Amino acid sequence: MTAPAAQKLTAMSEKIGKQKLSWPTIAFLTLTPPLAALGIFYWFYTGMFNWGTFILFLLMWTAVGISTTAGYHRLFTHRAYEASWPVRLFFLLFGAASWEASAWRWTMDHHKHHRYVDTERDPYNIKQGFWHAHLWWLFKEREYDHTSALGIEYGKDPLIRFQHKYYYPIAVGIAFVLPAAIAALWGDAFGGFILAGLGVVVINHHFTFSINSFAHWLGRQPYSDKHSARDSHFLAFFNYGEGYHNYHHEFPNDYRNGIRWYHWDPTKWLIRTLHAFGLVKNLKSVSAELIVKRKIAMQQKRMQSAVVNKTPSFAEMAQQMSTLAAEHALAAARKWSELRKEYYELKRQKTAAMRDKIAEVRLRMKSARREFEQMFERYRNLNKSFLKLSEA
Ligand SMILES: [Zn+2]
Ligand SMILES: [Zn+2]
Repeated sequence: MTAPAAQKLTAMSEKIGKQKLSWPTIAFLTLTPPLAALGIFYWFYTGMFNWGTFILFLLMWTAVGISTTAGYHRLFTHRAYEASWPVRLFFLLFGAASWEASAWRWTMDHHKHHRYVDTERDPYNIKQGFWHAHLWWLFKEREYDHTSALGIEYGKDPLIRFQHKYYYPIAVGIAFVLPAAIAALWGDAFGGFILAGLGVVVINHHFTFSINSFAHWLGRQPYSDKHSARDSHFLAFFNYGEGYHNYHHEFPNDYRNGIRWYHWDPTKWLIRTLHAFGLVKNLKSVSAELIVKRKIAMQQKRMQSAVVNKTPSFAEMAQQMSTLAAEHALAAARKWSELRKEYYELKRQKTAAMRDKIAEVRLRMKSARREFEQMFERYRNLNKSFLKLSEA
């Protein structure tokens, strides 16, 4: 590059947020999508399609994607559970293949995102625009002080430091060489590289980036509106459960993001499966009572701001009735939560003599849950009616 051209680029980079641009990252992020698309198109239309390679693509997609969500995110950043070294090593190897930086850097960025969400110190601050949160923040060079308190905290694990030191050889090896070498076994090294390698990197990139952009832009806020994070079933489907982002920002140390059985959260299912095999332990989750409390507080806030412009007598009646229904729902949630605790405690110390007692507590727990659900439904319907009346 000539000196004037270099000066021009530096001046441009100073203009954009006073941070230097990271040209290798810009080149990688802008060239990989068209290269992958063209390569896959060529592979498919020249008759090279191979089912083995396609299955390898699905396996690599899952292994790389879930290593980011279960590993980089819920384990290494939020410490939502503890994992044995083989599990940590797997997440670090396949997490590197996502080409989203070393776990050490990723965790430091993500920690800042939670701590300073929606402010200038949030690396992917949505207030600076959708594209900034999705992609542009990556175009700028960022400082990482690995000797700071945060750096020391996230670099305690020697495996994290190992992955950081050998990040590029690992990323190239697992993301590109491995799928090409496996597919070479059936004579399709090119397909392995282009679909299960480059294709997986591009797809995972934009699904992960969409959590920083779409999940702070589209969806519901059932737990809090103090930050921009939102819940979306649609995003959860493409992100191994990470789309329940409003819940996640409220309870970041919970190993679950989708808390109901019908919530699509394969990351949670993987963690539970690893737990059943004794490979991970100390799964952290918040109590049902606390979740309900947060949900009710949010609904109360919405209702109060809706009735505030109505007549004082209407607002007062709505407040009183809603508060009473909320108290009933909370009391039912507390009862259910206590029985749940008792049930799991009894199950933990399980002896033959306790079998009847466990069955009895289980029945009481189930009926307490039903009672809570009815109470909560009643509360929600009441609030909805007040909201409708306020809009009328
Ligand atoms: Zn977020
Ligand atoms: Zn997080």
